[in-house]
Amino acid sequence: MKKMTVASGRALAALVLGLSLVTVLFLRAFSAFTGLPLFLRNYGPDRLPPVTPDERRAMAAFSRCIACGRCDVGEAERMRASGGAYPGVMSFVLASSRSMPDHDAAVRALAWVPEAVLAEKERHCPTEVPIVALARFVRSKAALVAPEAAASRAPSSATPS
Ligand code: SF4
Repeated sequence: MKKMTVASGRALAALVLGLSLVTVLFLRAFSAFTGLPLFLRNYGPDRLPPVTPDERRAMAAFSRCIACGRCDVGEAERMRASGGAYPGVMSFVLASSRSMPDHDAAVRALAWVPEAVLAEKERHCPTEVPIVALARFVRSKAALVAPEAAASRAPSSATPS
């Protein structure tokens, strides 16, 4: 009986990658959707914008939160005034900022807390979560999927500094 040779491990990976590269180049030659346009077509309706290499690197720091609650100290008045839109900085860091389809809700919460306050919270965070950079990241992604939410502003009289 004739013995069959089956690629495995690195050889199989190289074969699959090579075939994928040839397929993509072939499709691009005929103007088919590939790469970022294909990503946008597939995931845009799910409100999942692409991230840049720099943003991807920054994400490790975004997830350092240990839920100590320190950044919520002094936030009671803003939380009360928001009527539920702003559940505090810790909830923003741990919940809404972590789900891109929810970034419009995260931006509506952020509208209640000035960036200078976020910077102050960042200075006192025990795990050095870059809260200001996280807020900017969330705003920039929300602007891509829900521009009306990205423009959210809380009434200035309701945002104690
Ligand atoms: S202070 Fe830092 S570690 Fe503590 S809850 Fe806030 S973001 Fe998380």
